[in-house]
Amino acid sequence: MKEATSLVNFPACPGDAFGASVTPIYQTATFDQDSPERFGKYDYTRSGNPTRDVLESQIAMLEGMGDKGRCFAFASGLAAITAVLNTLGPGDEVLACDDLYGGTYRLLSQILERRGLRIRYADLTDLAQARDAITPQTKLIFVESVSNPLMRVCDLQSLAELAHAHGAKLCVDNTFLSPLLMKPLRLGADYVVHSATKYLCGHSDVTAGVVSVADSELAKQIYFIQNGEGAGLGPQDSYLLIRGLKTLDLRLERQQRNANLIAMHLWKQPSVTRVRFPGLPDLPNASVHARQATGTGAVVCFETSDPELSSRIVENLRLFAIRVSFGSVSSSASLPCRMSHASIPAEVRAARKFPEDLIRLSVGIEDISDLLADLDRALAISTAKTPQIHVNALHAEPVVNCCRNHHATT
Ligand SMILES: *Cc1c(COP(=O)(O)O)cnc(C)c1O
Repeated sequence: MKEATSLVNFPACPGDAFGASVTPIYQTATFDQDSPERFGKYDYTRSGNPTRDVLESQIAMLEGMGDKGRCFAFASGLAAITAVLNTLGPGDEVLACDDLYGGTYRLLSQILERRGLRIRYADLTDLAQARDAITPQTKLIFVESVSNPLMRVCDLQSLAELAHAHGAKLCVDNTFLSPLLMKPLRLGADYVVHSATKYLCGHSDVTAGVVSVADSELAKQIYFIQNGEGAGLGPQDSYLLIRGLKTLDLRLERQQRNANLIAMHLWKQPSVTRVRFPGLPDLPNASVHARQATGTGAVVCFETSDPELSSRIVENLRLFAIRVSFGSVSSSASLPCRMSHASIPAEVRAARKFPEDLIRLSVGIEDISDLLADLDRALAISTAKTPQIHVNALHAEPVVNCCRNHHATT
């Protein structure tokens, strides 16, 4: 069966007595046992829950490793990443790409480093730098590919070989593409993590994260941590994710089509100085991306060379909501420097040449003509010398620059 088929045709209710068509929400913390000696399959939801099991099987299926694949669901993407990092101990070294989601950077630098983990950052999109940076203490290489939000691409197969040659593991955060568009375990990665809050859920109504592995020893370790730390995903959220997953293929098909048209359109605008999108030929490492992934994803980033102009553009968008996060059915826009990546200190961002004028668009499933019209309108108003007159000329309501809460701490 193809994935689009398996997403809607799967054992949704193993063992259900009534022939339910949809996975029931086993909203129970405990399961009664026949005797104190003989336990059934489930005893306590922290340790295992039938609704979460169905979700984990579906995602393991998507990761493409057949019977070897296992997946574990957590309360958030960061909880999933923490589970992988908690396989390490004091003195172990993580070699991380210098371009990471702000929350992952904060977890590494402000929580785990203080507990004795050593973190080394390097530009791992460049294999020569990766080879220089790895040490005998390196136990884990951690990368995002495609990275959020600079759209940088690492050669996963080569990084997996490098890690394994040094007795280390490779963990790939594949949130940007989803397992439909790339399968890092097949490229040699040991762990794949996703913030399921994004595409896997698709509706911005659950925070969740998953870790997938294809090795029974690693599966045992991650399960031990899931049960031992207690950050496994609850049954209600597991149900919502199973429901969201059913349309993953359908959603991504439309979202990618819209994103490609938007990237092309922005590319032609005089006020746009750079478009970062895996579908454009000038993406650095484009050939690596083409080899290891089967799609572009639906996040489009662009720059204007002017942080104030970028800020005005985002403020002037109407259909694109200003929000952190991405991957939902409805489109949104953000300024990563002030929002999702504000937890990376300004001097670190500057040292890593993180563009302060970068706008990140998460493209949804709306009609493309509405999205393009919204972008054109916002670009026109924002680049005009006297914005207010321009607004009236377009018969639009005046732009109200209210005090939006940009959630600088998320
Ligand atoms: C959002 C995100 C995370 C964190 O996931 P949460 O579900 O918000 O905890 C991790 N990595 C990437 C690439 C993300 O975009």
